[in-house]
Amino acid sequence: MQYIDLHSMTQANTTSAHALSSQNTSSSAALRHDWSLEEIQNLLQQPFNDLLFEAQTIHRQFHAQNEVQISSLLSIKTGACPEDCGYCSQSAKYNTALERERLLPLEEVIEKAKIAKSNGSSRFCMGAAWRNPTDKNLDKVIDMISAVREVGMQTCVTLGMLTDQQSQRLKDAGLDYYNHNLDTSPEFYGNVITTRTFQDRLDTLQYVRDKGINVCSGGILGMGEKATDRASMLQQLANMPQHPESVPINMLVQIEGTPLFGADGIDSIEFVRSIAAARILMPMSQVRLSAGRHEMSDEMQAMCFFAGANSIFYGDKLLTTENCETNDDLALFSRLGIKPSEVELGQTDLIKAEACHS
Ligand code: SF4
Repeated sequence: MQYIDLHSMTQANTTSAHALSSQNTSSSAALRHDWSLEEIQNLLQQPFNDLLFEAQTIHRQFHAQNEVQISSLLSIKTGACPEDCGYCSQSAKYNTALERERLLPLEEVIEKAKIAKSNGSSRFCMGAAWRNPTDKNLDKVIDMISAVREVGMQTCVTLGMLTDQQSQRLKDAGLDYYNHNLDTSPEFYGNVITTRTFQDRLDTLQYVRDKGINVCSGGILGMGEKATDRASMLQQLANMPQHPESVPINMLVQIEGTPLFGADGIDSIEFVRSIAAARILMPMSQVRLSAGRHEMSDEMQAMCFFAGANSIFYGDKLLTTENCETNDDLALFSRLGIKPSEVELGQTDLIKAEACHS
């Protein structure tokens, strides 16, 4: 078991740092990277109220209570992707009703970033449906990263697989986060994607981590996987030498024309349990309620926040699927007494200790 150095902890945003200084940290949970599958299964299976109580207790040790970070996500290049991710409307292999779009012009991205900022987002995520970016495409994305930083927002991109050198270029451009999801367990992975391996994903994450870019990585639940797969995916994330700073937990949005349309979904209580387990296993990470929120009731979202989710995507589109209306989000925040956390540009430099391609 490894123990954290509180001076070098991740998620050290101003609010959570305040929460730490104002709360008793002596009981802070140890950061572990050696979870066995059995331990995680036992965690997930404990009585619901015990699990949520533990998750909320840990949450309050590391994060400001009643605050949720807001990110916006823009698809900067849509569709015609050569990969075969079984859940994705953007794969060229599936016949979905998606309209393809070339890489967006810089001006449009800047305009969307300004709107997102005025709606309260602190981070602007840009996703491109590529297996991997070409160096020429990366030049254009780098221009977008610089422009969004000038708007005064944190930046995140999800571009598929990267090389070591491309990761360095993104770091040099000032990129804050790189998203690359594990998607599911290594055991279930072949049921979802065949055009790249689980190890390919780990390699990209390693390049990004080595360059000092914050990592955003999580997965998708409700793809027909078993409870053991959910535990195994969480084990992969929690046992990384450094936990991802951001852990998106998605609920599959079933899209007609994709192989996973009609897959056995996930029971909402099981979903909340997974959020709680992610919070306990990765105490300092931001656990993000991501795709699938549109299908969740207000009550289910409230349970997820209680279970330790402290980040959402905001706006009415999540790449190509429906997301909650901005006004609905604000109304729910108000009903729950939640406020958006204020994240200042540059504060991720504090993250030393410890990403959204889906
Ligand atoms: S999830 Fe990403 S890599 Fe997979 S098909 Fe969709 S756009 Fe391509």
